Amino acid sequence: MKNLLIQFFLAFNFITGFGQDSDSLVIRSVYDNELLSEVPINNLRTLCKKAPGRLAGSPASFIALNLIEKAIQRMGPDTVYRQQLEVYSWNRGKKEEAIAYLGEKATLKLHALAIGGSISTGINGIKSTIVEVHSFEELKKLGSEKIKGKIVFFNQPMDPKFISPSPAYGSAVYQRVFGASEAARYGAIGVVVRSMTLASDYEPHTGIMHYVDTIAKIPAICISTLDADSLSKLLKTDASVKVFFKTDCNNLPAIKSYNIVAEIKGSVKPGEIITVGAHIDCWDVCEGAQDDGAGCIHVMEVLRLFHELGIKPKRTIRVVIFMDEEMHQSGAKKYAETVKQKNEKIYAAYESDSGSLLPLGFGCMSDEHSYSKFLTLEKYFKPYSIYEFYKGHGDVDVYPLKDFGVPLLNLHPDMQRYFDYHHSINDRFEAVHPRELKLCSAATASLIYLIDKLDIFTK
Ligand SMILES: [Zn+2]
Repeated sequence: MKNLLIQFFLAFNFITGFGQDSDSLVIRSVYDNELLSEVPINNLRTLCKKAPGRLAGSPASFIALNLIEKAIQRMGPDTVYRQQLEVYSWNRGKKEEAIAYLGEKATLKLHALAIGGSISTGINGIKSTIVEVHSFEELKKLGSEKIKGKIVFFNQPMDPKFISPSPAYGSAVYQRVFGASEAARYGAIGVVVRSMTLASDYEPHTGIMHYVDTIAKIPAICISTLDADSLSKLLKTDASVKVFFKTDCNNLPAIKSYNIVAEIKGSVKPGEIITVGAHIDCWDVCEGAQDDGAGCIHVMEVLRLFHELGIKPKRTIRVVIFMDEEMHQSGAKKYAETVKQKNEKIYAAYESDSGSLLPLGFGCMSDEHSYSKFLTLEKYFKPYSIYEFYKGHGDVDVYPLKDFGVPLLNLHPDMQRYFDYHHSINDRFEAVHPRELKLCSAATASLIYLIDKLDIFTK
């Protein structure tokens, strides 16, 4: 019956030259299968609940590798293998303590997390006067005279005036990443950073930081946005506020870990590879559902959908589940190195690492010719309320492939609530709506199908 219907549509299109073509019907079948399937949400639940806190190198990360590998094997790819690499992990240790003092009185308990990669304070913690700044320029103006021996409080919020929260994050996250070294330049003994989120709550949001080798390393914590507001208010009433904080974290030596790679071999041009990636690791304090467990599900679903719908791609579809995006991108580097060593031809590289809220569109980073061909795909997605085709940025794990001239694609879901979850305990399985997970997965599989079928990046 279904075949008859498809043939009817094909004949209708042939006669009228208008309306649905066979590719539109394939996309409809991708959405139909996906929207009826419980596989994506079940796999996400298993990953989040059985391997929460799967920072690269952690015991949970190895549990996650086993779970994902088994789930992928059930999806019928031609090959599944592990790509070995080295990761430098980091361990939070005991729960952080952070308190603001007015004189000798503990006045404000701060909900805090050590920032990823930070050194610890040592068992006694650190306590000093706290100096609030909102930019590196402000810090520089205060200089060593006002900063030496103190704790610097970086309190520039993500700017809510940005319509998309991504650039708001981009314009404020430097405080978390480079704040410690910048403050240490003027003799600070520690830093407290406002969490990178637009949400007003008591959950701190961690993430990576980097030390400058030539500057003394000082410990860094982030505090919740509501605590940052309260601390700022307290400082306005009394500039002698002191903060005590204690962390127990440490950086660990290198150990072996892996990317997982799964392929459907191309039926016409097996030597041309479409990389479809997401990252398996997440911060230690969360279940990593939005970042980036859901992304893993989106790209794994390409394998399942192609298999179940009998889609035989012309090119090799290579799903890569990357390790260590959050800290050192060792999975991304290993993958790009291997591509170079083997002189592989990557036709395009897609990544889903912007969560799994409602899918709105796709970004494409490529030359103008390829970009104009990418735009021709818009019409296929309109029936699914996907309208935003734009010049993208290339997500972190596939970004190194840019050096080989590979067009980079990214999924673009709605981001308005993404940073409510990002790198905090709020990023749990329940934060992903099953329907949005499926819509992102179907959009991903449809795009990969069209790129291959319509030779979008062939010159
Ligand atoms: Zn991510």
